[in-house]
Amino acid sequence: MADLAGKHGLIVGVANKRSISWAIAQAAAAAGARLALTYPSERLEENVRELAATLDNPLILPCDVADDQQILALGAALDREFGGLDFFVHGAAFAPADALKNPFTETSRESFRVALDVSAYSLIGLSRAVTPLMEKRGGGSILTLSYLGSERVFPNYNVMGVAKAALEANVRYLAADVGQKNVRVNAVSAGPIKTLAAAGISGFSNILNIYKDRAPLRRNVDTSEVAEAAAFLLSDAGRGVTGEVLMVDAGFHVTGM
Ligand code: NAD
Repeated sequence: MADLAGKHGLIVGVANKRSISWAIAQAAAAAGARLALTYPSERLEENVRELAATLDNPLILPCDVADDQQILALGAALDREFGGLDFFVHGAAFAPADALKNPFTETSRESFRVALDVSAYSLIGLSRAVTPLMEKRGGGSILTLSYLGSERVFPNYNVMGVAKAALEANVRYLAADVGQKNVRVNAVSAGPIKTLAAAGISGFSNILNIYKDRAPLRRNVDTSEVAEAAAFLLSDAGRGVTGEVLMVDAGFHVTGM
């Protein structure tokens, strides 16, 4: 189990109890961290507040990751309340529904823009806001969540695959940019898990079945497995790792057929 005692972390991307970010929040809290959780809209505020009520002294703040003003305000609030930051988990992703079911050639300019803005650009904007807070602590760890659709084609994953390719490239460029400040940037690439975001991808249960049949471990992963790998990268145990995409997918990515 990773040790995050005395650390302060920001978790963006909790929607409900099935969210991968919520599993990471629970693992980080169990490892001793104090957390700030965000909600993107009033619709989800109640959910996030209810879940956060089970944590010790959490901070709850608004943040639509597509809004630069909200990102700035989030950074200022974290500075005021925590006086710095040790880690940041980026678990926000979105693509308009039409782009996750129409043939890929039909992807509209607007759906492409929104998917890449919310799911990939936001890591840059938020990293810019949290890096000065991490410098105050002598360094920090930034972690995002990706999927193998960045490299391989999965039915209906479509523009989200393109967004994940951009996200993973962001991880490498950000890692190179902020490394001298002792800030690390990594991704965990999770196997498929039934969550709210996954429900938006038509034929998702078929993907789950194929992983179960073909992954070396002959099963799917659950959110706690992703969360423990994430906690390792967030903690000092992962201090030598940056620019990395760690596969937590029961080994599916190594299979040829
Ligand atoms: P989820 O629906 O629980 O989480 C997605 C989150 O993105 C939600 O909390 C949602 O509110 C947030 N979000 C969307 N638009 C936002 C905006 N404008 N501002 C702020 N937040 C916004 O689903 P999840 O599966 O836990 O997804 C978390 C991350 O894990 C995503 O990046 C997803 O692509 C990735 N991932 C998921 C799987 C899977 O199979 N579920 C596999 C690999 C990677």
